[in-house]
Amino acid sequence: MFKLLFFLFLLFLFVTLYSFKKRVDNILDTLFPKKNKRRGNKNSPDVLVKCLNCGVYLPKSDAVKKIKLNGEVLYFCSKQCKEEYSKK
Ligand SMILES: [Zn+2]
Repeated sequence: MFKLLFFLFLLFLFVTLYSFKKRVDNILDTLFPKKNKRRGNKNSPDVLVKCLNCGVYLPKSDAVKKIKLNGEVLYFCSKQCKEEYSKK
């Protein structure tokens, strides 16, 4: 009889802890929405772009962008490359 009560108690404890963990996760998600964005980025691979100055490939999010007057977007690996390319 005691074994059964102990088992039920464990089950109750487990369910309580599980729902508590879910609640904490929800609170954390609302407090730190950036975490979710990072997770999303991991799921969708970043597009690689080529630095127009040195030819290095790098993720689009890390690239230094330069938008031309005609709307064309140029990508560079660093500000230095961007400046060097502008001088050419
Ligand atoms: Zn470069």
